[in-house]
Amino acid sequence: MKWETVIGLETHAQLSTRSKIFSGAATAFGAVPNTQACAVDIALPGVLPVLNRKAVTKAIRFGLAVGAKINHRSIFARKNYFYPDLPKGYQISQYEIPIVEGGTVTILSDGKDKTVRLTRAHLEEDAGKSLHEDFHGATGIDLNRAGTPLLEIVSEPDMRSAQEAVAYAKVLHALVRWIDICDGNMQEGSFRCDANVSVRPHGTDKLGTRCEIKNLNSFRFLERAIEFEVRRQIEILADGGTIVQETRLYDSDRDETRSMRTKEEAHDYRYFPDPDLLPLEISELWVREIKKEMPELPEQRRRRYAQEYGLSEYDVSVLTENEEIGSYFENVAMASLKDGESLASTDVKTCANWVINDIARKMNEEDLPPWAFRVSSNTAGHIIRRIREGLINAKKGKSLLSRFWEEGRQESERTGRYVHGGYPQKVDELVREEGLGQISDSTALEEICDQVIAANPDQVSDYKGGREKAFNSLVGHVMKATKGKANPQQVNEILKRKLSG
Ligand code: ADP
Ligand code: MG
Repeated sequence: MKWETVIGLETHAQLSTRSKIFSGAATAFGAVPNTQACAVDIALPGVLPVLNRKAVTKAIRFGLAVGAKINHRSIFARKNYFYPDLPKGYQISQYEIPIVEGGTVTILSDGKDKTVRLTRAHLEEDAGKSLHEDFHGATGIDLNRAGTPLLEIVSEPDMRSAQEAVAYAKVLHALVRWIDICDGNMQEGSFRCDANVSVRPHGTDKLGTRCEIKNLNSFRFLERAIEFEVRRQIEILADGGTIVQETRLYDSDRDETRSMRTKEEAHDYRYFPDPDLLPLEISELWVREIKKEMPELPEQRRRRYAQEYGLSEYDVSVLTENEEIGSYFENVAMASLKDGESLASTDVKTCANWVINDIARKMNEEDLPPWAFRVSSNTAGHIIRRIREGLINAKKGKSLLSRFWEEGRQESERTGRYVHGGYPQKVDELVREEGLGQISDSTALEEICDQVIAANPDQVSDYKGGREKAFNSLVGHVMKATKGKANPQQVNEILKRKLSG
């Protein structure tokens, strides 16, 4: 018998607000345990939750980005269960009416676009953390994370393989970072997935019984856990057994999933509307304001790069992997323009190549965060500009880039901050001072200037007629004739003197 895999993901994205969803305590990661939990977070009697407006804004941004319906009235509910890291005895979540409903995400599967439908996305608070390893024979509780805002994004069971599930998780991960609602840091648990997995005989419609694998915090674990789980379920069914609906854990050391508990039903949680919180009402005006602030989305940017710059599918995909690399590329392209040029009239492809083959590659090699460029886009663009002006050749340009990159790396390591190496004027200084065997011998330069003046009578008369630009182009000719090795200041002086006669 052939089996078909069915997967739906529940993804928890930690919303990047400074304070918690219902209190003013800080959300920063890595603080000393229990220093960022206030009376509300530790559930002292008599305290009341107050909703964080920024968390709501970020949920709305998500809804707009996936083309979902924003519910103008949603309800916070109490999800009751007992666990040591949940001091209230309930989690505030949304149940019957979530803030975001529907929407879609497009993934690439086997080279083709595939639409994954979203069921909903709702706001909720995170729980604390149990620390099992730090104490001998006892468990510690850290409530710093309690009350951290989460957006739980629930997909329809639309994925058909572990690879599709990973593709979906990656698109979602890129999107929440892109629209600046979640830092996406998976090691710190800011983005984690629960995978619901079932199998059914190929060609049938009825969904099989599913198992839910909890808290997968890397794409690799997500893929491995699903693959293991699919094999396990097929084996049981092929032997004539039945799948028990349950919650399972993935053990990455043994590369297997293990039963954690039988699945609870919604009624086990005794959901009811939280009497301490009013219904969340969102005006059309507020949604419109947020819409105005939305950045260009990945899909739109991909289309624009292909249409406006004629970039290949591969180039576009690399340059839209995250928001930062695309903005960097566009800034490089701007900085590479000669006076009077526009992006529409130049060869943007060269800049794309630099960013993809040199800069993105270096970022990957060093495993840098997507915003931590070691050379600024201005500097990189300026180097390309000097190449295009014929002042230096491409090889020299690349070596300058590498040199600045290395300086940035060393300086960053020394200071413990991300620092750029080099700056645009430094490019020009080095081009002049160093390595290029620059000609400062004035007799030689005088001679070349004479030749250029003789060879370009039109520009000479233009300049004499008052067109400053013609002068720049004469300087350009001299620079070209010397392969960029002349001292531009000296050339300026010589030409001015000769032409003023
Ligand atoms: P719960 O909240 O109890 O986990 P839901 O019905 O909200 O259950 O479903 C959660 C996730 O499980 C959704 O992403 C959904 O697409 C997925 N799902 C539901 N049924 C199946 C199934 N039979 N096989 C695979 N995934 C499923
Ligand atoms: Mg679930």
